[in-house]
Amino acid sequence: MRPEESRELTARLEKAALLLLKHDLYRKPDDLARRFGLPVPVVRYWWRNVEDQTKKPIPDRELTPKQAKTIRRASQVLDGWEKVKRYRPECGAKLTNGRRCKHSVVIRQPEGWSLGALADRCRMHGGMSRRVRKEKKTVDSDDL
Ligand SMILES: [Zn+2]
Repeated sequence: MRPEESRELTARLEKAALLLLKHDLYRKPDDLARRFGLPVPVVRYWWRNVEDQTKKPIPDRELTPKQAKTIRRASQVLDGWEKVKRYRPECGAKLTNGRRCKHSVVIRQPEGWSLGALADRCRMHGGMSRRVRKEKKTVDSDDL
């Protein structure tokens, strides 16, 4: 997965999570994180960075069709995260035998989510690295 795609995906998740929290469909970031299998520190961080954290609950009967649709869409986006976790793109690093690595790319640690939730490589091929991978991976001394 390209870094831009990963960041776009992450931005979609953030937007959806904040919408649901704002309308108080989930009381706390932790509740939402657990419901959708997102890392708790990430959702807390998203919520902490919202300027106006006042909740705006909408009673069911006052929900306009448009609002209902927006909320449904946001839940679907977050539900999709389970699928993304299970069916991650392949790493694709070139192997010495000329094939490409078929392992799934890594899900970044919470502190790396600003780079995108998914790394572009598997665990073996530098996916856990905190830096954005350079075009050509060379062994340099700070990796040792
Ligand atoms: Zn790999």
